[in-house]
Amino acid sequence: MSAEQAGGTAGAVTEYWCEYAWLPGGVAESVGVDVSGGVIVAVEPGRPPRGRTLPGLTVPGMANAHSHAFHRALRGRTHGDRGTFWTWRELMYRLAERLDPDSYYRLARAVYAEMTLAGYTSVGEFHYLHHGPDGQRYDDPNAMSAALVAAAADAGIRICLLDTCYLAGGPDTPLEGVQLRFGDGDADGWASRAGAFRPEGDHVVVGAAAHSVRAVPAPELSTVAEWAGDRPLHVHLSEQRAENDDCLRVHGVTPTALLARHGVLGERTTAVHATHLTDDDMSTLGASRTRACFCPTTERDLGDGIGPASALAAAGVRLCLGSDSHAVVDAFEETRALELNERLAAEARGRFAVTELLAAATDHGAIGFDDVGRIERGGQADLVTVRLDSVRTAGAAPDGVPLAATGADVTDVLVAGRTVVRDGVHTRIERPATDLAAEIGKLL
Ligand SMILES: [Zn+2]
Repeated sequence: MSAEQAGGTAGAVTEYWCEYAWLPGGVAESVGVDVSGGVIVAVEPGRPPRGRTLPGLTVPGMANAHSHAFHRALRGRTHGDRGTFWTWRELMYRLAERLDPDSYYRLARAVYAEMTLAGYTSVGEFHYLHHGPDGQRYDDPNAMSAALVAAAADAGIRICLLDTCYLAGGPDTPLEGVQLRFGDGDADGWASRAGAFRPEGDHVVVGAAAHSVRAVPAPELSTVAEWAGDRPLHVHLSEQRAENDDCLRVHGVTPTALLARHGVLGERTTAVHATHLTDDDMSTLGASRTRACFCPTTERDLGDGIGPASALAAAGVRLCLGSDSHAVVDAFEETRALELNERLAAEARGRFAVTELLAAATDHGAIGFDDVGRIERGGQADLVTVRLDSVRTAGAAPDGVPLAATGADVTDVLVAGRTVVRDGVHTRIERPATDLAAEIGKLL
């Protein structure tokens, strides 16, 4: 095994030479990057070529902060009846009924391979499909979590397993049907199961999630927040107006205010979607230093609306990005959609600088990988190289490439110094597309 394959053994240094690299101060040319033990030990702009050449633009690995891996199977299959919300949800539930730990492992491994090919080096898996049919516990009650962590390890991506508390179908509505697979009875039951899951490996972090104010009764929210402690804590927030209406009717406050009341917001918390917010909600999120995770391609697919990204940023909210239902898996498409959606909503250009977009796209701290996402000495060696000679990127200025490239332009990906994608080919999963087609074909 070469030092590079091992992620750089202690003491051994692997040298890379980037034609262009996106450094904390902006794009630099002819950049040497030295890696040892999976960590960047030197960055030297203007270095003559030596070591392994990465032609094109090398950016920090991107973070997919919000994923439901199994939703990938729905892509291109929810357009019946013009593709209503119910067409989508019915198929999503049918799929959830059929998965078991073995099939979920195989599907997720291929989905995570697709993510790395598209420029992601970490994923926040918002995981709520915990149990067997009718809610029967597997022999290992965390078998599904273990399947996802193993899938990520085999695909070479970092994973934050966000163990999700999901207890109700809505206000005064118990879980029923396939939803029984999501439930742990109450938040204490959820916490004791989640607490028993202790995966090993540098590539994995365990975090927590409250599915939403719809699916976790208000008195149980504080139990989830307390269990999370210093771990990443995620929650779907105000994705659709109906959630706000229900919350106002039952609790007399918005979902954001309800989360604040029960101690869910804070530095380690990420509110996913944050689409339909009041000015007070945005102030509350900003004051508590809560992050907001936008999922533009999914929000587009589901017809959720366009969230107030620049207003949130102005309120002090840190933005990050996720591909959520995986209608699209493309780190660059997700990144520029943050700006392009704003332009549509505001009828104006120039809402975010490209550096701000890339900061959101590389915010691995939202899922507990605080030292990932910057090409600098001491950072983790997560690098994504994009070719500048495709029909999409040819002629683009290097610092405009995030607005021009797609995942198909990614040639090389390093995760903690390990080569996961080389020349556009996944180095560990031989045929991800064949695997996806086979698994989805069996499930649907
Ligand atoms: Zn989601």
